[in-house]
Amino acid sequence: MTQNDFIPRYRCFSLSDFHDFDHCIFRFFVKHHLGKKYELEEGSPNQALGSLLDLTIKKIHQNKLYHQPIEFLINLVKNSEDHMRGKAQKDGPYSYFGPQIKFLTPELIKKTQSVIQSYIKTLNGNWQPSISDKTFWQEDVLGSDGGLIRLWGGPDLIEMGKDNTPEIIDFKYFEDQERGKGYLDMDLMPKLYFLLTTAELKRLGFNKARFKLRFWQDALDESMYEEFSIDQEESFKSYFKSRAEVILRTTELSFCEKAYCPVCQNPARTDWQKQIKAEFF
Ligand SMILES: [Zn+2]
Repeated sequence: MTQNDFIPRYRCFSLSDFHDFDHCIFRFFVKHHLGKKYELEEGSPNQALGSLLDLTIKKIHQNKLYHQPIEFLINLVKNSEDHMRGKAQKDGPYSYFGPQIKFLTPELIKKTQSVIQSYIKTLNGNWQPSISDKTFWQEDVLGSDGGLIRLWGGPDLIEMGKDNTPEIIDFKYFEDQERGKGYLDMDLMPKLYFLLTTAELKRLGFNKARFKLRFWQDALDESMYEEFSIDQEESFKSYFKSRAEVILRTTELSFCEKAYCPVCQNPARTDWQKQIKAEFF
C-alpha cells in the first residue's frame, strides 16, 4: 500500500455499513467511526456456518476442483475450519473470524458438510467455472470535497454464465429460507457488488454482467438476479458517492432504541456519544 492509497477508515464503506446507517445512526457511528464492529459482534452458529461454506466454495472454484470426488470436496470444510482458527489466532478476538470461533463445534462442521454435500449433489456436475481469482474488492470514488471515498467488500465469485454473460455471485445460507429470502436487499447489494467488480469485468473484456444470488439449500433457485451494463458504472459511482456523503455530512446522532440494538442498549452509550462528538462532529 502506498501513501496515496491511504484513506481514513471513516471514509471507507461496505454494504453492511450502509445497512447499519439506515437502521440506527448511533450503531453505525460506534461500529464504523469508532471501529468497534468486531468488539460488538457476538457471532452465531449460522454466521460461522456461512463462513465455512464461503471459504469452501471459494477453494473449490479457485483450484478448479469441480471434478474431484464429492468426499474430497466435503473434506475441504476441515481446511476452512483450520483457516478460520489460524486467522482468528493471528488477528485476535476482535477480528472478522474472532467472534465465530467458539461456534466451530464438531456438530457444526458436520452440519456444514451435509449442506455442501446436498448442494453439490443437486448441482449434479453443472458447475459454472469462476473467471476471476479475486476475492476482495474495492473501488475508490472521488468525493465532492476532493478526498477519496472507498467502497469495499463485495461478492463471493465471478462465474461464467451459461449464456457467456459473467455472473457476479453471492452465496446465502438461511436457517429459515423463506424468511431469509424475504429480507434480502435486492436494491443496494446488486448495485454495489456490480460497481465493485466493474474494473475486473472490464479488464476481462466484458461490457455487461449479471448479479445473481445462490442459495446453499436451494442450488437450483436462480430467480434472484439483476442485469447490468458497464455503462452504468458512472451512475452507480455517483449514487454511492452521494450515499457516503449523506453519512459524512451527518453531525447529529439518532438512536433506534430497539431492545435488540447492542449499541443503543450498551452501558457505554454515554461515553461513546461523547467520543463521537469529540472526534467527528
Ligand atoms: Zn440502535
